Amino acid sequence: MSATCKTCLLPTNYLNIKIDDEGICNHCREFNTTDYLGAEKLLQDIQPALRLNTSKKYDCVVGFSGGRDSTYLLWYIVKILKLRPLAVFSDDLFIPEIALQNMENTCKILGVELRSIKHDNLKRCITHHLNAWIRRPVPETLMFINVGERIGYETLVEKEAIKEGVHLIFGGRTAIQSAERYKKELMLLNHRGGQVSWVLGYMKQVILNPALLTNLFSLKVQYQEFMVVRWKKQLIKKHNLSIIHPFYKYIHWVEKELEDVLFNELHWAIPEGAKNSARFGCEIDTLRQYLYLRTLGYNDTYVDLSYLIRDGQHNREDAAEILKSSLDISDDYIRYILTKAGVNSDLFLEKLERRYPKKL
Ligand SMILES: [Zn+2]
Repeated sequence: MSATCKTCLLPTNYLNIKIDDEGICNHCREFNTTDYLGAEKLLQDIQPALRLNTSKKYDCVVGFSGGRDSTYLLWYIVKILKLRPLAVFSDDLFIPEIALQNMENTCKILGVELRSIKHDNLKRCITHHLNAWIRRPVPETLMFINVGERIGYETLVEKEAIKEGVHLIFGGRTAIQSAERYKKELMLLNHRGGQVSWVLGYMKQVILNPALLTNLFSLKVQYQEFMVVRWKKQLIKKHNLSIIHPFYKYIHWVEKELEDVLFNELHWAIPEGAKNSARFGCEIDTLRQYLYLRTLGYNDTYVDLSYLIRDGQHNREDAAEILKSSLDISDDYIRYILTKAGVNSDLFLEKLERRYPKKL
């Protein structure tokens, strides 16, 4: 492993990192523990939306991805908040069997209806974006690879809520995810910039690799995903929906408590060799994390574990151990994902190896 901050696991080449004289990074120095508002305040804040409800079957709708955060969220809503959720799942056709099994089991145990909605946006874009990306394989443009995933889920939950007459929507956002901003910031032309800097950065990248824009369908989905946050906001306003993220402002997200629920109450299965519950959702996300690691030398796992060290949930040694085991994604699995995505995996990995040789 390359040199890192002395407190967390962020490497010294992490995007825009500043390491001080004592070897400690700005993310550790600037970390503040959050004062969470608590469950009582959460219950208070959802009352207005509950009163607008016209559904006889459901109190709320939850975006359920099968990942650990939304699974824990579903459990929390049923067992702690005592509400009746509808779980809505956007199936992008790259969800591993084990995750689908966990989802079905979870919903059965909790007595929750699971509504799966399949879409092929990601599947129709992925071959083009991977083949275009490998022509100029830089980390800045890795965000193209899962284009089509987001359009599937961004307004899906809202639309189902409207259909059912439900005004309360729960989301699984956590503070940890806000720490993963580097993926978006890579695209910025000037790292202090906002939306304009991002758009200019995007233009720069597509000028350097115009192949990213040469497929009409993919281009359409790129545009839709750029606009989708705006469309979602309009939908929320028009239909008077409330979106609440309990683990963002209200409840402290504690990995140990989450894993206790997942493994002991919901009987979660994890892939062979996995050391914890993190990250085995969408296969394209797994591929993207692998490619961030190859091209940058770090990925979300570094960021997440570093956050948990600062939050007092892991000591540095344990976190380093978990990191080491979770980085070990087998070449066979990557080949399987590439082939499923319609790409010549030998050629792809050869080009990747030439540009970013694996350190032995
Ligand atoms: Zn640090």
